[in-house]
Amino acid sequence: MIQVGASGWAGEGLFAARPIAAGTRIVAYQGERISKEESARRRAAGNNYIFHLDYAADIDGASLENTARYVNHSCNPNCRVEISEGQIWIVADRDLEAGEELSFNYGYDLSEYERFPCSCGARNCCGYMLAREYWGNIPVSREDYCWPSQDATRETASSQE
Ligand SMILES: [Zn+2]
Repeated sequence: MIQVGASGWAGEGLFAARPIAAGTRIVAYQGERISKEESARRRAAGNNYIFHLDYAADIDGASLENTARYVNHSCNPNCRVEISEGQIWIVADRDLEAGEELSFNYGYDLSEYERFPCSCGARNCCGYMLAREYWGNIPVSREDYCWPSQDATRETASSQE
């Protein structure tokens, strides 16, 4: 159903290998179940693959065997996360075509988003891997703000020549 490939905006990514219907559980985010204390220690040491599971535990998905770690953040994602019975699932948020790169909103909160600038290229990119609910809370972000894409900048530059 999925395959790893070169991302459109961030190193490697995960792609739909065939059409996937909205609501499909595509892949589970797998890894070591760790306490919140251990999670804080590993995140402080630079591990960016730790995923919130529940009030007591997180999942460290840094292992390369965790295929879901290749799914990149996007401010205009086509997948969402569902946590069910101790499993973290990447779920299709709409119908996906074969070859589409999978993405979800990493959902960092206001306490740490500045460490995670975003270059997803979405027209509505807020500039950070920030949970959508907080976009109104950062200085440069508006729900309807449209950042100039690199292509648009180039077009503007060439039209002035
Ligand atoms: Zn973005």
